[in-house]
Amino acid sequence: MQPQPYLAPIPLRGRISRTQPRGLPVVNMGFNELPYPPLESLQEALREALGQAQSYGSPHCDALRDALGAQNGLSAERIVCGNGSEEILDVIARCFARPGDEVLISEYGYIQFALTTHRVGATLVKAPERNFTTQVDAMLAAITGRTRLIYVANPNNPTGTMLAVSELQRLVRAVPPEVVLVVDLAYGEFAGGGYPARVHDLAADHDNVVVTRTFSKAYGLAGLRVGWCHAPAWMIPVLYAARGMGTVNALAQAGAIAALAEQAAIDARVAEILSERARISGALGQLWLEVVPSQTNFMMARFRDGSAELTERLVEALFDEGGFVVNRTREAGLERFFRFSLHLPENNDRLVDCVREFVERRA
Ligand SMILES: *Cc1c(COP(=O)(O)O)cnc(C)c1O
Repeated sequence: MQPQPYLAPIPLRGRISRTQPRGLPVVNMGFNELPYPPLESLQEALREALGQAQSYGSPHCDALRDALGAQNGLSAERIVCGNGSEEILDVIARCFARPGDEVLISEYGYIQFALTTHRVGATLVKAPERNFTTQVDAMLAAITGRTRLIYVANPNNPTGTMLAVSELQRLVRAVPPEVVLVVDLAYGEFAGGGYPARVHDLAADHDNVVVTRTFSKAYGLAGLRVGWCHAPAWMIPVLYAARGMGTVNALAQAGAIAALAEQAAIDARVAEILSERARISGALGQLWLEVVPSQTNFMMARFRDGSAELTERLVEALFDEGGFVVNRTREAGLERFFRFSLHLPENNDRLVDCVREFVERRA
């Protein structure tokens, strides 16, 4: 007899552990990160913060919240920062969901939503998608008297698709006021048209809507672990009740503030990724792959006539021939897809070349 945990164990993920057989550098395209190193001004800010690391960072991230508020036209009072937006998603669940409650997501919703739901012992409910995209009507139809929380990643990971603002608005208006709706904007900066600002506007006058953002994707700071949310005023102290005191460390706060001061450079990097997205999507389309239209910095694609097994072989070949680590998409219904984050143009070109060679060997 051993102690019984409340949680089902999650085995450590088996990554490609063999060395690259050709001695090529390994290019990780599996985490939706940006390929650029932090700007020099950020590195400088981190070095400076390091020299003061004997002190705690600001427990409530005061200067960072001020900077975020100013940049996004929001009140700093309505912002909570976290150790990645992952923590924010978890904090929200700790506040609002317990065993017996239902948490609603869409069919291919972000995997963390499911993990977080299990952590608090609530019941996960999934609403069907159409064209790998969240359907507002299906989500609304899946709401029951037990639904406490809805998570929508928009754009979504792993599918890369999203709801237009008008559809999101329809969802926001129709969700019952006693249900919390979380709109995860981790990839909002890649959706174009000032999408994040429009979503913040939408959330501003709803007392049950939380918008989450992150520095991990467009801001290229995944390793610093900084996320934040824009939440209704009444909810802020509730969220702090569930969040650890010092979860956003002092270096992370300094780096995030420095990143906000470099918005033009950040925007230019996002623009380069968007241009690569269009280019690579076209190139893969010509190789007889079906590419799901992406609103993010990653793409999900499959062979039009291929099996899940063929995709497995492609993923292995991309590593062996090119040093690329991409994702297999193992969710039920997505098994035939692979997914990769867009990288520097030369690496994207090499990836397309590897796919082309794989296709030619097969023919
Ligand atoms: C990457 C990602 C996040 C961000 O996670 P962090 O904890 O902020 O690094 C959140 N939501 C989605 C959908 C993501 O893909």
